[in-house]
Amino acid sequence: MTIKASNNVVRVDVAIIGGGIAGLWLLDRLRKKGYGALLIESERLGTGQTICSQGIIHGGAKYSLRGSVGESAKMVATMPALWRRCLHGEGEIDLRGALLAEYQYLLATRSPSSRLVAFFASKLLRSQMERVGGVGMNDYPPALHHAAFHGTAYRLDEPIVDVATVLAMLADRHRDAIVLSDGPAVPSGDGAITLRHPERPALIVRPACTIFAAGAGNTALPWAALQLRPLHMVLVRGLGLPGPLFAHFVGNSDVPRLTVTTHCDANGHLVWYLGGGLAEDGVERDRPEQIRAARRELATLLPSVDWSRTQFATFTVKRAEALQPGGVRPPGPVLCRDGRVIAAWPTKLTMAPLLAEQIEQTLGTLGVRPRLADLRLLMGWPRPEVAIYPWDREDLEWS
Ligand SMILES: Cc1cc2nc3c(=O)[nH]c(=O)nc-3n(C[C@H](O)[C@H](O)[C@H](O)COP(=O)(O)OP(=O)(O)OC[C@H]3O[C@@H](n4cnc5c(N)ncnc54)[C@H](O)[C@@H]3O)c2cc1C
Repeated sequence: MTIKASNNVVRVDVAIIGGGIAGLWLLDRLRKKGYGALLIESERLGTGQTICSQGIIHGGAKYSLRGSVGESAKMVATMPALWRRCLHGEGEIDLRGALLAEYQYLLATRSPSSRLVAFFASKLLRSQMERVGGVGMNDYPPALHHAAFHGTAYRLDEPIVDVATVLAMLADRHRDAIVLSDGPAVPSGDGAITLRHPERPALIVRPACTIFAAGAGNTALPWAALQLRPLHMVLVRGLGLPGPLFAHFVGNSDVPRLTVTTHCDANGHLVWYLGGGLAEDGVERDRPEQIRAARRELATLLPSVDWSRTQFATFTVKRAEALQPGGVRPPGPVLCRDGRVIAAWPTKLTMAPLLAEQIEQTLGTLGVRPRLADLRLLMGWPRPEVAIYPWDREDLEWS
């Protein structure tokens, strides 16, 4: 059965507000199941968190540094395998071409540190990692060969994705069902959403159900309590970078002291992207202090690298999640509902597939059944582009 469009009204089963990883993954899933779904984005796709993500598909290791396998670790444990199937063209979404690196490493400068001993007591995590570096072993990640790294290295079963490629692949498959709105989309009292763009006459979208997958934009729903947890991320580029590295450096806390991923900027140059404890603690520091802290951390962890010829930039970004007691990270994806409007947060890029599955189940319980939507009124409507990576932003100050 097809839902007919009339005059300036587009009727759909589901309107998805927000085109980050959560909205785009959900759109793909729902359309494959036959739902008439439409995604509305007010900026570029992935603006906010997704384009700033380090792209690590966590398997739980990072969440188990306190020595016990918590709810988070259990929930994400199956995600690397799910994403790997997609990255090899055998999963629910074909993401061939979006793999940035096969593995994230876990590096401990002192061995055995008390953190690691507790950590490896976990059977779940032992099955997800392999020791590759230590005394008498030289199969460290290549970037460490000349970096005088002394410690132990474990290869984690955690692939890293190129998030802009993932966003573009998802968007390309559903171009007819993704529209750019001039300003944030907000449903009116009767659930209708007015779609505006300076180049087009306004249209009304009438959904049977609306899903807000808008990250910090979910704040438009007064009943959807969210928390924003800031990070002060650091970028490093220039001569002297020892090559690509994807690694968590373990310290004495339950957050890795430094998480490094490596990306290629628009000029084809390598950029190290630094998060972890450095970014969490760095929200208290201004830009010069954060750069000094990053330099100190790199010089301590990789002392033989000449960091003097590298340039640094920093920026702050907020993680948007469902509000938790004490402001802690939610263990998994969260959705909350008011009638036929749902607010959803994946909590991690990694868990976008889980969130999509949970939303599909909720639609079933709400009695929203798949019907094809007539989207012809939207032909020629402007479509959003994919957001620009932080390291390619022109407003960044490098020094
Ligand atoms: C620095 C950083 C690093 C991270 N690294 C990782 C990692 O390595 N691995 C991992 O698993 N997770 C990571 N995360 C978490 C992950 O990025 C987020 O959980 C995930 O990207 C959230 O996706 P989202 O689609 O919910 O939100 P967003 O990516 O924030 O997307 C929301 C979208 O909604 C749009 N929007 C907002 N309001 C409206 C409106 N009213 N109308 C229309 N559109 C609207 C925005 O423009 C945006 O495009 C990281 C997060 C940060 C900040």
